[in-house]
Amino acid sequence: MTTFHNFIGGAWVAPSTGDYFENRNPADQQDVIGRFPSSGVADVDAAVVSAQRGFDRWKRTPAPARGDVLRRVGDLMAARKEEIANLMTREMGKPLAETRGDVQEGIDTAYYAATEGRRLFGHTVPSELASKWAMTMRRPIGVCGLITPFNFPMAIPTWKAFPALLCGNSVILKPAEDVPHTATVLVEILLAAGLPPEVIQLVHGMGEVVGKALVEHPQVPVISFTGSTETGRFVGETCGRMHKRLSLEMGGKNAQIVLDDADLDLAIDGVLWGAFGTTGQRCTATSRLILQSGIHDTFVERLVGRAQALVLGDGRTAGHEVGPLVNEAAREKVERYVQIGKQQGATLRCGGARATGGALDSGFFFQPTIFTNVTAGSRLEQEEIFGPVLSVIQVATVEEAFAVNNGVRYGLSSSVYTSNVNVAFRALQDLDNGITYVNAPTIGAEAHLPFGGVKETGNGHREGGWEVYEFYSETKVGYVDYSGALQRAQIDNY
Ligand code: NAD
Repeated sequence: MTTFHNFIGGAWVAPSTGDYFENRNPADQQDVIGRFPSSGVADVDAAVVSAQRGFDRWKRTPAPARGDVLRRVGDLMAARKEEIANLMTREMGKPLAETRGDVQEGIDTAYYAATEGRRLFGHTVPSELASKWAMTMRRPIGVCGLITPFNFPMAIPTWKAFPALLCGNSVILKPAEDVPHTATVLVEILLAAGLPPEVIQLVHGMGEVVGKALVEHPQVPVISFTGSTETGRFVGETCGRMHKRLSLEMGGKNAQIVLDDADLDLAIDGVLWGAFGTTGQRCTATSRLILQSGIHDTFVERLVGRAQALVLGDGRTAGHEVGPLVNEAAREKVERYVQIGKQQGATLRCGGARATGGALDSGFFFQPTIFTNVTAGSRLEQEEIFGPVLSVIQVATVEEAFAVNNGVRYGLSSSVYTSNVNVAFRALQDLDNGITYVNAPTIGAEAHLPFGGVKETGNGHREGGWEVYEFYSETKVGYVDYSGALQRAQIDNY
């Protein structure tokens, strides 16, 4: 069995604990990918000391030169795209088309970061005093602790690491326990592209040990966390107490609304992709389908037929459309919610059980599941399941559809299918989400636009796009008075 290491202090090293955990293919539990460090607090401490040295050097590297490194990272990722997609599917299960997309998101993020190296704008504005210059500029902050989830094993670490690095910070990456291999390859690529070794550290291990130690470390002033709202709450409490800069991207309960005037074929394709792609394990997954009464019965009938026809299996085999859940705990959680749905009076229209038979018996497969007659406010409708379970809610009007969409504690993405342009624009205005799609599913973020959610999905920051560069840099203001005299602001000019 291959043994993998942490990357700390500029070298691949064993954990101080001497402990390791096994990483297995969720589509085939007999397939062991390797063993990875189950690191301890001492490993995080060592990573921080090294990352501080890395920061001292990297912050002095001009931003365009930092961007050049990230351009080479993009080139290397593009050259290894197929290989990375394969190992990612083996590691977390989603089909190759989706893991290729995951790598592409990383490539796009790298090239975007490369160009930002030649922008990283501050502002120059007029001073209220004569012969005085006023401007803002961006400064790096320090060591950034990045804690990432399992569902986008390449894209999400790149969303965090590339802008953090471009801004001149050093980075400690703590990937999810289920996807340590993809993170290892990402670090290999950063090093191969010429990133000075101590600028990046990789510490594998359990969230409650390594993640917690990173969050609590006084010399890590920036934490960026993507994961569940429950874990994010602990992270937020600690960072609040320690006055850290914190970006939280957390859970979702995203809805697709289909109105009576929608293109139904388009909407069915959209909901199948949104609900069952990545086996429903996307933060932007469509877990609620809000149907207007006029099309409800026809739509459900057609949708159930299509969902039942989806082909499950190892995502590396052509023709397999839906992979396994990431681990047994995830599958048991889905089973619990199926029971909750039944107990609360929803109608199970398809799925609802483990998918078994042949090769499926070796993995964590679950049938695509659709409940109808789901009541707004019920647990099935309110809570994040993170699996292939779609809840259908029937509504009479556009107003009711919008109210149901907004009636959850999360606010990541939403989607509305309609041919009425006025309703489309009202949706953009009135739906309480960070992202609203019109005539497209709830998923489909692009690297050069800000990504994130409102309410308990996030804490106001965004990943991606230009906004994330604000998070990873400190705004500094410079005033230069070239009048040769004392000029008192707010006094001498009034
Ligand atoms: P998770 O919360 O279980 O784990 C996320 C990360 O946090 C992992 O690396 C884990 O090891 C670490 N962690 C666990 N306990 C910790 C602690 N006490 N202190 C510090 N770190 C700790 O989430 P997951 O199951 O990997 O991912 C699924 C969740 O992520 C879902 O809720 C999903 O909606 C969310 N997600 C959100 C977005 C977004 O952008 N909003 C994107 C992807 C996933």
